[in-house]
Amino acid sequence: MCSPRLLSQVYESIEREDRKVSRRSIFAALGATALAVGAQNTASAAPAALPLNGSTLVDLTHVLTTNFPVWPGAPSFEMKNLARTASTGGSLGSLGSLGSLGGGSSFYLNELRMGEHTGTHIDAPAHASADGITVEKIPVADLVVPIAIIDISVRAEADNNTVLTRADILDWETVHGMLPSRSLVAMNSGWDARLRVDGAFTNQDALGRQHTPGFDPDAVDFLVRERDILALGSDTLSIDAGRSTTYGAHRNALGSGKYAVEALANLSTLPAVGATVMIGAPTHAGGSGGPCRVIAWH
Ligand SMILES: [Zn+2]
Repeated sequence: MCSPRLLSQVYESIEREDRKVSRRSIFAALGATALAVGAQNTASAAPAALPLNGSTLVDLTHVLTTNFPVWPGAPSFEMKNLARTASTGGSLGSLGSLGSLGGGSSFYLNELRMGEHTGTHIDAPAHASADGITVEKIPVADLVVPIAIIDISVRAEADNNTVLTRADILDWETVHGMLPSRSLVAMNSGWDARLRVDGAFTNQDALGRQHTPGFDPDAVDFLVRERDILALGSDTLSIDAGRSTTYGAHRNALGSGKYAVEALANLSTLPAVGATVMIGAPTHAGGSGGPCRVIAWH
């Protein structure tokens, strides 16, 4: 932990060195240090507020419920109660001994069951690439990155099968400049609002085919070859369009060692460029991905 006293000592010493250093940049430096320490030590050394001083926080994570849409055929999210707190008066269930841990106190806990690609989640390179790394091996420095948002929501509303193209990227760059180095490039298709309407998120037709936007595989090829990106993001269940049967966006991105974050929320509240995002990826050994807490600030 960084105590307030330690912080003011750091300020004093830095301000003695260079009176022009802003407090905000000190916070950013301290935050980056704390995150790096946390990577080597499971006891978190990162005070959450440090890198966020003066910034607006945005939660890019959907609340995960048992009704959250999943890829057709994938297991739904299940949460089974194992033990309830005494105050709720519930039963202790089949593992009742867990509900009473010393002194008669009891604890509330559940068992979770889900596919790895459930809710707001990460796809590790291994998900679509035989020699890609698994989720626990993604370097922590690659999980705190600039995020660039390319908005195709107007077009996606009119054409649910539209794809984000190379031309969309070049158009974006004429307005905002070249995509930031080591960035996560996210497609905002306005899809998160569809969670409020039953069936609208997966948007399946009578034959079960999904009609949802995604990245054109050619655009992904351009991003991995001609730009310095680390990851792709989408507000749909997949970085590929729902109608794709060849999954070219996955193959081009994950096959190039990039990762993907899918079912992102609230992308429309972020600036097109200038925000940073932290992907709270899981660390189960050998995993192909998993649910994440994704938090951005700007
Ligand atoms: Zn996935």
